[in-house]
Amino acid sequence: MTALDLEYFETRLLEMQAQVMGIAGLVAGAAGTVELDQNRVGRLSRMDAMQGQAMAQASAARQAHQLKLIEFALQRIDDGVYGLCLECDNKIAVARLEIDPATEYCISCAEKLER
Ligand SMILES: [Zn+2]
Repeated sequence: MTALDLEYFETRLLEMQAQVMGIAGLVAGAAGTVELDQNRVGRLSRMDAMQGQAMAQASAARQAHQLKLIEFALQRIDDGVYGLCLECDNKIAVARLEIDPATEYCISCAEKLER
């Protein structure tokens, strides 16, 4: 991978990080609003609100996970091992990194791990 490629993926990762952090901020707000509305809303809409809260919490967890993956990827750029599969040390295809710059595994390891 060339220095230019690395720079490109680092930029992509930093953009993803900023984007996920922005969404995470909004979701954190949604995850904490049920308490406030409890007296004002009826039973059904309270259940709706709780459902919304559970969904917000689930997506907050997903976003925290994604942020971690992005941080790890940025760390791998610093360490000079970005683009290498964590499992087998082979190069991850650039086309695969293009789709998800935070991906940690080459396609064959990813398929093995999914099974
Ligand atoms: Zn691999």
